[in-house]
Amino acid sequence: MSRPGFVIADAPARDFLRAVELAADVAATHADDVDRTGRFPVEAITAIKAARLMSMMLPRALGGEDASLTDVAQVTTALARSCASTGMIFAMHQIKLSSLISHGQDSPWHMNFMRAIAAGQLLLASATTEAGIGGDLRNSVCAVETEGRRARLVKDATVISYALDADAILATARREAAAPSSDQVMVAITKDQYRLQKTTEWDTLGMRGTRSEGFILSAEFGADQVFPKPFADIAAQSMLATSHLLWSSVWLGIANGAVARAQAFVKGEARKKPDVKPPGMLRLAEATNMLHLMRANLAEGLQRFYRARRDPDELNAVGFSVAMNNVKLASSEMLIKVVNHALLICGIAGYRNDTPFSLGRYLRDAHSAPLMISNDRILLNQGNLLLVSRADTPIGG
Ligand SMILES: Cc1cc2nc3c(=O)[nH]c(=O)nc-3n(C[C@H](O)[C@H](O)[C@H](O)COP(=O)(O)OP(=O)(O)OC[C@H]3O[C@@H](n4cnc5c(N)ncnc54)[C@H](O)[C@@H]3O)c2cc1C
Repeated sequence: MSRPGFVIADAPARDFLRAVELAADVAATHADDVDRTGRFPVEAITAIKAARLMSMMLPRALGGEDASLTDVAQVTTALARSCASTGMIFAMHQIKLSSLISHGQDSPWHMNFMRAIAAGQLLLASATTEAGIGGDLRNSVCAVETEGRRARLVKDATVISYALDADAILATARREAAAPSSDQVMVAITKDQYRLQKTTEWDTLGMRGTRSEGFILSAEFGADQVFPKPFADIAAQSMLATSHLLWSSVWLGIANGAVARAQAFVKGEARKKPDVKPPGMLRLAEATNMLHLMRANLAEGLQRFYRARRDPDELNAVGFSVAMNNVKLASSEMLIKVVNHALLICGIAGYRNDTPFSLGRYLRDAHSAPLMISNDRILLNQGNLLLVSRADTPIGG
């Protein structure tokens, strides 16, 4: 029997926010260089591994610490406040881990793999996006070919973040060559089992440190590395929700970082001219109000997720998908408004790239949020779901 999911009530064994402090400092130190040169944030990821945070969400029996999704969300926000790319890499790894925790515990291969992740603080990457499919997660072109106990996969993966620095990739594919595009499975493939042939570079506006290049992924692996559950269940029961919740945690971190700079600017103005109220005060109050809305949106999403974990009917209900999609839509749009406000507050000092109040990196990173699975695509799906689900949202409903 699988365990019910993420721990909700148990007190964590350690203070994860303290545990992440050093890694967040390291991430902040290197954030501008990571952004400028578009390189993997190796120093921050090494510090995260040293703090054993890669495996924080795994069950204790497998070498983890039974951290809740809220713990992971808080750590993600703290990292992203310093360096959005580091936060996003951490979030993407944890999203993959959540699929293993929720859907891998009936499979000896996946259980051993989780032990190996904890022991080696392994980094997991994701290959869902595919040429010809784009961000349509629930369809695949490529297919797993199985021969006895061995299997093969070739995927034209147009975006795999930090693929060259990962220890394993979790990829989606059709179940077999004859399967329709929506009959998908997910497979965990370790570094020694795949080859990566680069097809596109990652020279982007923001999120430059995620190094989300395109590759032809060619792999040979054991047939038992395919998750026993169909990908449709994995997506509906863990991956969509954890993606939207942890991405939103990254975006809250970026927003926090931008507002902290704006607040420092306003305080500096107040010190310089004690008799004049800084003009940015009003905008700062507005930006903080939006931050609170982002946090409330995320916190409510996490509570809804916990409720659904306890109730399989709710987990599979249309209303749950609608709620998780709404968390993503609202946070990604609010983030851009918050960073714009911070820019209005700091003015030229924020627009310049060489001041303590520079906001260029925050602004560029923020603009990835609505594209990371296009908000238009999600809104259209949302419209379809609302044909069969209630649209009003009573408190507690
Ligand atoms: C920083 C970052 C890291 C990423 N890392 C990974 C990763 O590690 N692994 C991975 O697999 N993917 C990753 N992705 C890809 C991501 O998850 C999405 O798949 C991708 O952003 C979608 O790309 P697209 O805009 O080209 O594709 P599409 O989804 O095809 O969208 C293209 C455009 O068409 C429009 N459109 C398409 N379909 C619809 C529709 N049905 N309704 C309305 N409009 C539509 C959208 O407005 C969009 O602008 C990453 C993306 C980012 C930004």
